[in-house]
Order: sequence, then structure tokens, then C-alpha cells
Amino acid sequence: MEYILSLILGLFIGSFINCIVYRVYNKKSFLKGHSICPNCNHELGVLDLIPLFSFFSLKGKCRYCKKKISKEYPIVELFTGLLFFGVAYLLNANFLTQGIFNLEFLNLLFYFFITAYFVMIFVFDLKWFIIPDGLTFSAIVITLIYLFSGTFILNMFTLDELFIRVVTAFVVFLFFFALYFFSEGKAMGFGDVKLVIFLGLLLGFPNILPALFIAFASGAIIGLSMMGLKKRGMKSEIPFGPFLVFGTFVALFFGNYFIQWYLSLM
Ligand SMILES: [Zn+2]
Repeated sequence: MEYILSLILGLFIGSFINCIVYRVYNKKSFLKGHSICPNCNHELGVLDLIPLFSFFSLKGKCRYCKKKISKEYPIVELFTGLLFFGVAYLLNANFLTQGIFNLEFLNLLFYFFITAYFVMIFVFDLKWFIIPDGLTFSAIVITLIYLFSGTFILNMFTLDELFIRVVTAFVVFLFFFALYFFSEGKAMGFGDVKLVIFLGLLLGFPNILPALFIAFASGAIIGLSMMGLKKRGMKSEIPFGPFLVFGTFVALFFGNYFIQWYLSLM
């Protein structure tokens, strides 16, 4: 039951993410005003804003101007829903029996938060080759609050763990800055350099290693196959942020399996 509730929450968060991504990119306030159709500017009603359901009941067209709605919207909604389902499953969410005033629930909320950030960064970077500073910096601040309150108030982490996370963030930042600097911005954008501070804080050492490995490996595979398929006039640039986010998400939950597997090879 908790998993289903998380899935539904994820669908709505996904819908909200679509809205944020659209409004941040178009430099609109994302708290004020109604949602509108980007084509005909008609205000959208409650029935137009139900995740997935609205898209399919309207057969993918705006109710007012009949213009096709991008498939990206339901895809982001479904994907966020499934991720939330996965997070609830992996963290063994049981807030219906245990209540919400405990560390497990706080932890779950934090993971929902960062999952939403992952989706936003993924979509933003994939669509527009940019990761907005506001997104990265607010994610860093939320993670620092989580880590510091988790260490000094809630006793979830030891001082050593906190220290390792902060140092990891700093080292991985320097590493990416060097990559950025010496490749003159060709290997990655400066947005990625800032993003890894957030990812380093989340993962710490050694979990950051499988994350980076997955990011570089999947980036190389996709990059090479895109080059193989490349047609003339096609954009050859691929943003790196989505791969970093993907690697981090996998490492967050399965990083220790990778590390154990690697150590068993030694
Ligand atoms: Zn319309």
C-alpha cells in the first residue's frame, strides 16, 4: 500500500516537475498563476492536470486548441512515479503502520526530494543542455541540512561520515574542475562541475566511485552509439548531467554491490 501511495505521489510530483521545468526555463514565477496551455494560453482546469489520466483521456491533445501535447509530459510523470515506487520499495517504506514521526519517514522524504531533483536535472540538461544554478544550489543546501542535522541532532551519521562526505564533494569537485579546465569545457560543462558537489555530498567515499564509473561508462556507450548513428546536421553534443544523475541514483542504492564485486575481483 505504501508503495502504491508513493507511486501516486510520484505521478503528481512528476507533473509538478514538468511545470517547474517549463516555468524556470521560460523565467516565469512557478508559484504564482495558473497552468496554461503553452500553445493557446488557455488556463488549464483540474481535469487537465491529472497526471497520465489527462493526457490519455484527451488523446494527447489540448482540450481547447487541439494542439498535440508533447509526449515528454506523461513520460516524465510515469518515470517519476516509478522512481518513487522504487525508492519506497528499496527503503522499505512502512509509514502507514509506523507513523510519520520517525527517522525512517524523514529519510524517505529526503530520498523523495533528491529523486525529484534528479528528474529535474535530468530533464533540464537533456532538453536544454543546462543545469540551472538555482536547482544545483538548493539541492546542495538541502543535502547539507540533512547531513548536518543528521549528524548533530538526529545521530544518523557519525562525525567521520560527515567529514568523508564533505571531503568527497570537495575532491570530486576539483577533479571535475580540472577536467573542465584542461578540456576547455569540451569534456563537460561548468554545470556538471557544480552538480558533482551535490552528488559527492550524497554518496561519500567510496560510493562515489561506482557512480562515476557508471556515468562515464554509460556516457561513452550512448555517445559512441550516437556517433555511429549520426546523420549530417544532427547535434553531436550530449549533455553529461543525465549520466551523472543516473550513476548517482544507481550507486545510492546499489553502490556497495559494485564495490563488493570489484573487491572480489582483486
Ligand atoms: Zn491549447
